[in-house]
Amino acid sequence: MQILKMVAEVKAYIRGVKAVGKSVGFVPTMGYLHEGHLTLMREAKANCDVVIVSIFINPLQFGVGEDFEEYPRDLTRDAELCQSVGIGAIFAPAVAEMYPKGYHTFVDMEELPNHLCGLARPGHFRGVSTVVSKLFNIVQPDKAFFGQKDAQQALIIKRLAADLNMNLEIVIVPIVREEDGLAMSSRNVYLTPEERQAAPVLYQSLQQAKAAIEAGETKGEAIRNLMINSIQQQKLAKIDYVEVVSRSSLEGLDRLEGEVLIAVAVCFGKTRLIDNIMLNI
Ligand code: AMP
Repeated sequence: MQILKMVAEVKAYIRGVKAVGKSVGFVPTMGYLHEGHLTLMREAKANCDVVIVSIFINPLQFGVGEDFEEYPRDLTRDAELCQSVGIGAIFAPAVAEMYPKGYHTFVDMEELPNHLCGLARPGHFRGVSTVVSKLFNIVQPDKAFFGQKDAQQALIIKRLAADLNMNLEIVIVPIVREEDGLAMSSRNVYLTPEERQAAPVLYQSLQQAKAAIEAGETKGEAIRNLMINSIQQQKLAKIDYVEVVSRSSLEGLDRLEGEVLIAVAVCFGKTRLIDNIMLNI
């Protein structure tokens, strides 16, 4: 497995792979890898001949006062994990390699970023869309793999690839969870023991919503209230949003029908956690 730092090295590596007719799978990450990331990588390995993983903490998608500086980093451990699942190469560029002096181009999308996480994190999806577009141009993958954990991101990237006629398939992989239901995240390491104990309330509230819908509840507002009440039982939890939306437009739903996304963002101290479920009603 190679660890590549420069764009030119990745392009040369990919040229070599494609010259012998092999397909390229791509898993973009910010590192500090966990079982969620590894599941994406295994899925990529199962579907593509060679898999490349990027590890890049993209400053453009962090807002003022967010955790860019503190975001956990451990390239040595990440490289061992990538090696263990048979990754061909890691692309781990420096910020200056991705955004050299004089960098001026950004990818902006209308509508989809104006919901859910985009409201609390203005500019976040502009940063995500820009870095993902750059990474796609560098790696030229046949398939790229993203997690359903970041449901809005997954939708935005699918839209981006379709709107800009990008020549690849976007594959979305289900959420990988801890035993108690907490969605795996690199940010879970920030949680104090008390916060960690309270954090599965996101998943529990989603399960309660699912049960209520299966029992016949049809109103979005009733589901939101049920979840808000449930999350508020945990004194350490501060709700950012609880939304019941259309899976395709992210618009709020009064009446539950079709493909529904139920998404939550909750802060525990300075740690913001997100989770979601999708239902076909
Ligand atoms: P990140 O390093 O947090 O930017 O995540 C990189 C990729 O892994 C994104 O496509 C995430 O959606 C995905 N991912 C992160 N956590 C999980 C999880 N618990 N289950 C599935 N995919 C995940």
